[in-house]
Amino acid sequence: MFLKKLHLKNFRNYEDTSLEFSPGINVLLGQNAQGKTNLLESIYVLATARSHRTANDHELIRFGNNDADIMGFVHRRADDLPLELELGKRGKKARVNHLEQAKLSQYIGQLNVILFAPEDLSLVKGSPNGRRRFIDMEFGQIAPRYLHDLTSYRGVLKQRNRYLKLLSARKTNDRVYLDVLSEQLASFGGSIIAQRQKFLDDLEKYAQELHLSITQRQEKLSFEYDSKLKNIAGYSEQELQQLMYQQLQEQYEKEIFQGTTLIGPHRDDIKFLINDKNVQTYGSQGQQRTTALSVKLAEIDVMKEQTGEYPLLLLDDVLSELDGQRQTHLLKTIQNKVQTFLTAPAMNDVARNLIKEPKIFTIKNGN
Ligand code: ATP
Ligand code: MG
Repeated sequence: MFLKKLHLKNFRNYEDTSLEFSPGINVLLGQNAQGKTNLLESIYVLATARSHRTANDHELIRFGNNDADIMGFVHRRADDLPLELELGKRGKKARVNHLEQAKLSQYIGQLNVILFAPEDLSLVKGSPNGRRRFIDMEFGQIAPRYLHDLTSYRGVLKQRNRYLKLLSARKTNDRVYLDVLSEQLASFGGSIIAQRQKFLDDLEKYAQELHLSITQRQEKLSFEYDSKLKNIAGYSEQELQQLMYQQLQEQYEKEIFQGTTLIGPHRDDIKFLINDKNVQTYGSQGQQRTTALSVKLAEIDVMKEQTGEYPLLLLDDVLSELDGQRQTHLLKTIQNKVQTFLTAPAMNDVARNLIKEPKIFTIKNGN
């Protein structure tokens, strides 16, 4: 798939801008603070209905305005599909083919993107929160059931935490309701864990091969789902649901004491291993970056496998963060395959040599 056209109205520092893109590589050049990341962000928001930089949609609306509008023409399979996301003070409206979608989950997934920004290079070293977000955002785009389970899980978790606080403050003693909430939470939680494990297995298959090739076959990369639940290996989805329910029940006293839910996918993590050693603990900075690169590039293939089409790749200022060999690898992997949007202050030599027929945009002050 590729994005043919984009129209931005009052999005960040763009007042009213229409752009036509190449299905190949689009290079966005410009000095600092001109709107390069804003443009990538608008494509990301058009695809996922949320920003990678902020949870507050009002930050996306151009200063002094009440709403922003992102419109795009996506070419997928044989069709051109108009997508539109309107961001207002009172929430957002999402339209596919000019028809407003009742649920955002019906909208997400029409356009698939992978974003790679300098902060992603810290995927390995950074907080567990970042790694959970990575799985949720990337997998959520291509797996509607996952997105649904995740939304339901978050809803029940909120309720359950509120109820644990009541129990903790002795405003109620009713454990039956805690049981009900625990069973619901475990039902969504078990499904989420099973789906995450499957996604990681799929991703590992591709990431391992890419990583071997980037490291001249020196490093075997593998992933592990690191759960707060005990002994989850080899369990089916249903068994994971039961296991989570059981382990929640074993923790009631502790959870009531702390007034919060202590186990479940909202606390889980991913471990990255190189030659069976944890990269987070033992890996050099370069190994951690290369791991992040392999993971991101592997996603391209996973998305292709699951949706039948390659996603768009948004690369924000990453070339300057990688050495020549890794830049070359990255650019070779995406050539003639994936529509790419790449920002940089200026073209460097590797890019000049490897990017064939780029469409170049120079961005200055939101124009
Ligand atoms: P760098 O090379 O430093 O990363 P960039 O070109 O990626 O720069 P962006 O992050 O795209 O820069 O744009 C930043 C500019 O957008 C800032 O000058 C900021 O003031 C402006 N900006 C951010 N949000 C809004 C908004 N809601 N309304 C108007 N302008 C905004
Ligand atoms: Mg930027």
